[in-house]
Amino acid sequence: MIVPIVAAAAAAAGTLAWGAYDPTSPLFGRVLGRGSKRERVLYLTFDDGPRPSVTARILATLARERVPAAFFLVGAAVRLHPEMARRVAAAGHEIGNHTRSHRKLHRLGPSAVRAELTGGHKDIVEITGQIPRAFRAPHGYRNPFVTRVANKLRYRTIGWTYGVWDSDRPPAEEIRRRVRAKLKPGAIILLHDGDGYDPAGTTERGDRSNTAAALPGIIADARAAGYEFRSLGDLLR
Ligand SMILES: [Zn+2]
Repeated sequence: MIVPIVAAAAAAAGTLAWGAYDPTSPLFGRVLGRGSKRERVLYLTFDDGPRPSVTARILATLARERVPAAFFLVGAAVRLHPEMARRVAAAGHEIGNHTRSHRKLHRLGPSAVRAELTGGHKDIVEITGQIPRAFRAPHGYRNPFVTRVANKLRYRTIGWTYGVWDSDRPPAEEIRRRVRAKLKPGAIILLHDGDGYDPAGTTERGDRSNTAAALPGIIADARAAGYEFRSLGDLLR
């Protein structure tokens, strides 16, 4: 009987891994990972900022193209770059909470999870004056406490439909190509304007200039394919 027990344990571990690592798995609570599949609409989201040199370029493109986006800010980066955080908010984009210090929440207990969320919330509210209602876990990693704590704090937990590994810093044309290849109705697209482990924004590894450079082409491709960009805030109401 050893084999079936091992198999059952492996299956259970697999299920728990699915809950912990899949950004939209419902196992550990409801997560919004996609908008309506019936409309040719897209939702751009940028994680891990602000990183002034990159965020400013992204804001300029979004303003020029009149495209709304959501920015899941890291509290520590907000504290270090208050002006840029205020600019993101003033531009009318959705501000989301991406925790205070980008810790991987699936290994934390409820009080540590709560501290990360309330810390990020406080940073964002104090600096930008906006009350974030969208929460995204770093890497999408969760455990049974994460969505429960987020719900108690009146947050909607947001996942994504697809990412393109832009944080590996492939060339801008490659980032653009990957986004275009996966376009689908209602997609919440994950991109990055910073590095969650480099809130000061000083390391080359955390540079997301290629993402900023890819954005005009991403918008052009999506529009050419008949898509329009909507605010993630529309899905939170
Ligand atoms: Zn992140």
